[in-house]
Order: sequence, then structure tokens, then C-alpha cells
Amino acid sequence: MNSTHNFVQQEDPAVWDAIAAEQIRQRDGLEMIASENFTSPAVMQAVGSVLTNKYAEGYPGHRYYGGCEFVDAVENLARDRAKKLFGAEHVNVQPHSGSQANSAVYLMAIQPGDTVLAFDLAHGGHLTHGMKLNSSGILYRFIHYGVRRDNNLIDFDQVAALAREHKPKLIVAGASAYPREIQHARFAEIAREVSAKLMVDMAHYAGLVAAGIHDNPVPVADFVTSTTHKTLRGPRGGIAICRAENAKALDRSVFPGTQGGPLMHSIAGKAVAFAEALRPDFKIYAEKVVDNARALAAALASGGVKLVSGGTDNHLMLVDVTPLGIGGKLAEEVLDRCGITCNKNMIPYDERKPMDPSGIRLGTPALTTRGMGTDEMQRIAQWILRVLKSPADTALVAVTKQDVSDLAEQFPAPAAQLEPQASRDARTLQTVMG
Ligand SMILES: *Cc1c(COP(=O)(O)O)cnc(C)c1O
Repeated sequence: MNSTHNFVQQEDPAVWDAIAAEQIRQRDGLEMIASENFTSPAVMQAVGSVLTNKYAEGYPGHRYYGGCEFVDAVENLARDRAKKLFGAEHVNVQPHSGSQANSAVYLMAIQPGDTVLAFDLAHGGHLTHGMKLNSSGILYRFIHYGVRRDNNLIDFDQVAALAREHKPKLIVAGASAYPREIQHARFAEIAREVSAKLMVDMAHYAGLVAAGIHDNPVPVADFVTSTTHKTLRGPRGGIAICRAENAKALDRSVFPGTQGGPLMHSIAGKAVAFAEALRPDFKIYAEKVVDNARALAAALASGGVKLVSGGTDNHLMLVDVTPLGIGGKLAEEVLDRCGITCNKNMIPYDERKPMDPSGIRLGTPALTTRGMGTDEMQRIAQWILRVLKSPADTALVAVTKQDVSDLAEQFPAPAAQLEPQASRDARTLQTVMG
């Protein structure tokens, strides 16, 4: 790869301008979307490699195309490393995303019309867990458990009661906006009692599982699915895990069941990321992610906002901003103006609408990858609080935006070294923004 030559800029300036502007946005802002991260230069290079040119339908040693000996090596490396990382008997590394991994498990584990018990989207679940417009909600009969009103923790009495009443074929655990560790063993116990299969979707916290900080669902679940790009810090993609006895059926369900040819460049990126996650420094990274989340949560809570469940023991928190007299929509907007990126989010039992809910969701995986620690979290919490308390104060927003970019400059994102550098010229941004 000739990194001094910018082919995109030369051949397609319109696309390059947008990439360059995004590069500046990532460099100068604070990324606090809980599902995002900065993958390593090695992963970026693998994903940008010649492997994108290769068709390889099938699995290593059993392909429908010739010339697969090298991509076979890549896929075997990815599978073996993922197995080691999660202590798994079988891992399919082909799912294009977390959603694809979930579709594949549903296809093999249940029949259309079957009952599935999963976490309520309005309480922190994911759209592939039975939202009515998603194929999961269209094809299967989902019913949902939630969190308790008093402590915002998963209501296991409700999980058990619904399981006994509806006799689901499958129980799904895992969440997109739940700030506490999920007790997989309790789900396994309930699933066993009603003879349901258990699927754990660890998309958000797979990195914490890989680091041994959160409970590993692999020993107790029939199926485990994940993304590879959230706390796990790999390329965009998914994986699906099962016991050896289900390996053939799961593989068939991914291909040809739900997908065609695998994205071999992405699988190469996964292999590199799994090797990174197996190294001791990844455990240190994941510990810092959790320490940072705790520090940020504590600082925010002492500044007048309410935290769902009172805090966090993972990489994210749900902040109820209504005590400050604003909603989640305005909170997201004003933070965005300061260069702090997050998303508005429903809180459990929210009385406001999904497009303007009571909360925002904040996460620490990306900032921690940039090397920030608990001191930086304290400072960021104060900036967040001050602008949310005076959202109309444009001078304060401007000062905060400067504070944000000064801090960001001290902690460069890792892959910034790899791409041709966008110039600091503000015209690039203007061209793209119109
Ligand atoms: C992010 C997420 C997914 C889906 O991931 P995509 O890669 O966006 O398809 C699935 N399940 C949960 C719980 C998630 O948080």
C-alpha cells in the first residue's frame, strides 16, 4: 500500500472531501456513542486490503470458488482466535453484522411463528430482538421482559413468570442500553426450567467478556452472538458462537441460510482484532473503559442529573436529563454543537416520546482507546453539565467546543496515522456541509 498516494482524493474528490471531513470530526471531537470505538491501524489496513476482491462462498476447505487457499488461512486464524478468546467450541466469523448473526441463529433455532422472550426495546433492548418492523418481529412472536421500576434492574421474577406462561422456544438475553452486568446464569436457569433455548447477544459488552471483566455467557448459552466493532474494537461485523454439536447447523444458517459470500477483508480485520484482544494490554484497556464509565457516571450524578439504575458497571450509562429542565433531543443537539457526540435514548418507563425521550446514552470505549483516563472523565462531565444547564448560552457552547478540541488534540485516535491526513483547512468541511 502506498500511503503517500491518495487515490480517492485524485479520482473522486467528492468522496474524499466527505472522508476528510469525517476524519476531522473524529479527530477534533469526543466520541461518546457507547457502541462506537476506534479500531487499530492494523485492523484498518486488513479491512482495506486486496481480500475485498475475493469470492469465497462456503467455509475453509469447502468453498464454491477456486483460489481460496489464502483466504482459508485468514478465516481459520479468525475462527481459532475467536474460539480461544471466548472459550468456545465453535465460532462462525462470517456474519456481516450483529443483526446478521442474530438472523442466522433465529433461522436455525426456531420456526416462523414461534414464541421468543427478549428484552424490551424501550428498556434497552435491540431492534433485532423483536421490534415490529424488523424481520425478527415480523417472522416470530416476540414477547418482552423489562426492568423493575424501583431499581431499573432486569426483573427476573417477570422473566420467569413470562417464560412459564408463554413457554417460549427461545429466550434472548443481551442489550444495547443496559448499564449493568447481565446475569447469564439466571437466564440459563429459567430457560432450562421451561425447556427453551438460550441466546445471549453480547454485541455491546463482548470486549468486557473477552477481557474477563464481565461474565462469559458461552458456557451457559446455546448460542452467543456479537458485533466485533463495539467494545471488542475490531472492524464492523458479527460473529455467532455455539457448541460443537450445533456447528454444522449454525454454519448452514449463516451460509447459505442468510448470507452469500463472506466479506474476507472484514474477516481478516476480525482475525487481527481477536489477536489484539488476546493480548494482556486489552484487559488493561477494558478495565480502564469500566473505570472511566464509573468516574464519568459519579461526576454526572453529583452534578444534578439522574442515572438509570443509579450508575454503571459496564462501559455505558443512561442519563436522565429531565431534572435539568430539558429533554434528550436538545441534550444530544447541544452536546453535538460542542463536539461531544452521543445519542438521545429512552429511559425505562419513559413518559416522553422516542424522538424526544428523557435521556441520553454515554459510553467510554472510544475515549478510552484515545488514552483518556478518569481525570479527563471528570473534566468532560463538568463540560456536559454546564452546557446542559444553559443550553441556550451560545458563548458557553463556543468555549466548550474549544475545550473539547484542545483535549482531543492531546489524545490522538490510533488510526489517524494511517489515512492520508485531511488538512486542517476549514474549507474542506464547508464544501461538504454545503
Ligand atoms: C449493536 C447491536 C446489534 C447489531 O449490530 P449491527 O452490527 O448494527 O447489526 C445487535 N444486538 C445488540 C444488542 C446490539 O447492541
